[in-house]
Amino acid sequence: MVTERQHGRARLRFSDLMEQEFRQVYAERNYSKIRQILIAAAALILVSLIVGVVRATLSWPTSVYMLGITLPVLMATLLQTYKEASYRRSQALLALTTFLLGLICVSLSLRGSLSGAAYHFAATVAWVFMVWVVLGLQFRYAAATAVALSCSYIWGLLTWDFPRSELYFSAVGLLAVNVIGGYCCYQLESAVRQAFHESRLLNELAERDGLTRLYNRRRFDHNVERLWRQSRRDQSQLTLMMVDIDHFKAYNDCYGHQAGDDALVRVAEVISGCAQRPLDFAARYGGEEFAVVLYGPVRDHGRELSEHLRHTVEELKIPHAESPTSPWLTVSIGVAVVNPGTARSLAGAIQLADEALYQAKEEGRNRIVVRDTSSAHIQTGRFRASQSRARA
Ligand code: GH3
Ligand code: MG
Ligand code: MG
Repeated sequence: MVTERQHGRARLRFSDLMEQEFRQVYAERNYSKIRQILIAAAALILVSLIVGVVRATLSWPTSVYMLGITLPVLMATLLQTYKEASYRRSQALLALTTFLLGLICVSLSLRGSLSGAAYHFAATVAWVFMVWVVLGLQFRYAAATAVALSCSYIWGLLTWDFPRSELYFSAVGLLAVNVIGGYCCYQLESAVRQAFHESRLLNELAERDGLTRLYNRRRFDHNVERLWRQSRRDQSQLTLMMVDIDHFKAYNDCYGHQAGDDALVRVAEVISGCAQRPLDFAARYGGEEFAVVLYGPVRDHGRELSEHLRHTVEELKIPHAESPTSPWLTVSIGVAVVNPGTARSLAGAIQLADEALYQAKEEGRNRIVVRDTSSAHIQTGRFRASQSRARA
């Protein structure tokens, strides 16, 4: 997390998943401002076109450029800000629009200079500065756009044989605005990155259980709900494992609450090792009960993994003199393998895992019970009840 912060700030890049999330947040935070600027720009273009038509000063290349190229791209960019758009597309479109609008500024500046009004150059300088700091473009997109516009201006000066003195003056002016604008853009983006990183850290703290560092119940509810929806979309299997420590009250009574806490931490470490794939996760469900959610197919319907988990906890060899089950601390595990594509509710799936855990306890503890929705065993009264509720 520390290196993440350093890289995020200095190189303006986090690691992949976090970077995607950041870019989306960064783009969305500027959408309302961008909309206002784009609408104002569209209105200005239309007014200038109308004035051009009324005064009969509008040339056809200008009309084609404004009506055929700039306005459609501008409208596409505007629409993009209303969609849950891909970040890359919205930044690329915004950069293109600002470049096309910038070319209008460049053209106006050059024409002004040709007719002796060199101060029109200020319009180009102002727009380049805007590209860097006002439009909410990320550094790399802003840099590409601002440099392209500056080069266009210099190219115009060279093409129309402006005096050398004006060329040098403009080059220095553009260089200065690019350096200052670039510096401001970099500082702004890195400050936003730092704030984003800190808010992520705070969220992380609020979503973790203080003792075991696993996700807490709140985060479990949120994650499992999201995975449930995703597995419905992908027609993918979901495996829920409920893990409960056996005779833990007796353990506390025998060894004390502090020893109980230490044992919880050690068991939680084993449990967190079960959630290895990117979408899998483990959480403290409550008290001495944990949950593991596995997204996608798992070998042997989760039997292998849950058996490995049960065995590893037993192998910790945490003494439990008061347990009638084993001389060591053990866990019972209820597993539900569900396919959310069928008409089942998430609550029903969790209940199925709970029932499996209950059965494991009933049958003597320190064991696993797997309920697969494709097996005949799932038709328990309680689960049917929640299924019919879900269908209702
Ligand atoms: P079973 O085998 O049926 O699960 O029996 P059990 O004793 O484990 O279950 P029960 O629900 O009767 O007791 C759970 C115990 O877990 C009671 C409570 O003191 C203990 N516990 C819950 N949270 C914590 C905690 O954070 N720290 C400690 N030390 N103990 C906890
Ligand atoms: Mg227990
Ligand atoms: Mg319990």
